[in-house]
Amino acid sequence: MIVATPARHLLLVGGGHAHVQVLKAFATNPPANCRMTLVTAERVAMYSGMAPGFVAGDYALRDLSIDLRPLAAACGAELVEATCERIDPTAKQIQLAGGEVIGYDVASFNIGSTLLGRELSGVGEHALPTRPLRKLLDGIAGLIVRAGEHRGDQPFRLLVVGAGVAGVELAFCAQVRLWRETGKAIAVTLFNSGSRILPRYPDSLIRRVERLATTRGIVIKNDVRVVALDDNGAVTESGERADADAVLWVTGPVSHPLFVNSPGIETDTRGFISIRSTLQFKDNDDCFAVGDCGTLIEHPDTPKAGVYAVRQGPILTENLRSHLCGESLREYAPQREFLTLLNMGDGYAIGCKLGVSFGGRWVLRLKDWIDRDFMRKFQLGEGTESD
Ligand SMILES: Cc1cc2nc3c(=O)[nH]c(=O)nc-3n(C[C@H](O)[C@H](O)[C@H](O)COP(=O)(O)OP(=O)(O)OC[C@H]3O[C@@H](n4cnc5c(N)ncnc54)[C@H](O)[C@@H]3O)c2cc1C
Repeated sequence: MIVATPARHLLLVGGGHAHVQVLKAFATNPPANCRMTLVTAERVAMYSGMAPGFVAGDYALRDLSIDLRPLAAACGAELVEATCERIDPTAKQIQLAGGEVIGYDVASFNIGSTLLGRELSGVGEHALPTRPLRKLLDGIAGLIVRAGEHRGDQPFRLLVVGAGVAGVELAFCAQVRLWRETGKAIAVTLFNSGSRILPRYPDSLIRRVERLATTRGIVIKNDVRVVALDDNGAVTESGERADADAVLWVTGPVSHPLFVNSPGIETDTRGFISIRSTLQFKDNDDCFAVGDCGTLIEHPDTPKAGVYAVRQGPILTENLRSHLCGESLREYAPQREFLTLLNMGDGYAIGCKLGVSFGGRWVLRLKDWIDRDFMRKFQLGEGTESD
């Protein structure tokens, strides 16, 4: 007599850059004897690489939307639209906001990150945050209205807090868009808490940003840390005021609280899960984490950037399959170098690779081609718009 082994339950939490690849791969080649569930806070995932282009007016929302429903349906996964709040690795279950509990045999987390300093006074009320990305994208129309309604002799003052790649791109793209839509002067100031914008990037790229900032009248201020926001703008650590009509909050990534709120999970100092090179939790073979939410124990300084989540996707897919089948796992090592491309608005982009920087309209065309090529793989049919 043949006794069927019960199907194992693979639980994917979050619809990030790596999980969409797992869903895509398992649609054509599913692991044997396995049922799947995708728990995601939002059923449409947003691709951050094209977010500055959306702000600049280059893209419609559907261009950067990945509808997770057809992707999940294609591999027979049940989609649960909910936020995971807690993990219990001993009981092998997660708890959702609202209290529902879902058990698993193997779980994988790809939930991204949230923003440093969101808890500071006034930030929740007065800033447009860049996480979740959807909040930024939905807020752009309102920002345009506010700039359009601005009266008086002074330009509309936009303060961008945070000068990593995203902060730099958004400062330039937002200025172009607001000016184009309203015809008004837009004064942009970019605050950087460190002594140098774009930390880790070559000096030649920074010089390109600074030259372009001078041309477009964007003011970059280093060594300024914002400690609070109010109706009139920002208050800095040194007690100075920076008046602004609108604020974009683009500070660095910190973890969603669920990992530190869960018992028995080792995290780094920012609350991200510590993971091995196999992408498994440090002390738990049945749990995997990828993208921003995992920090590699052997490479703790790897930046939190979508390019890493993208490269982890194929290895996660293979390792989930191998782990379900009891086979040995592959190891992931983060790429040392990658092509960086920044959309600076007005049809222009800059970039760098191997320490060499470049800029031009052709750079934006290249970025557009790469981004659209990535998106094409995951946009299955209708429904990717904006629901
Ligand atoms: C404006 C902007 C531009 C950027 N541009 C670039 C760029 O050009 N290149 C680059 O490499 N990086 C870029 N980044 C950084 C990049 O966005 C992140 O590193 C990347 O999105 C992380 O991908 P991820 O797969 O880890 O998670 P994400 O893409 O953030 O996806 C996380 C998913 O998990 C879901 N989720 C979140 N919390 C929960 C929960 N508790 N329960 C269930 N589901 C949950 C979310 O709804 C989302 O679908 C940019 C960031 C910003 C803000």
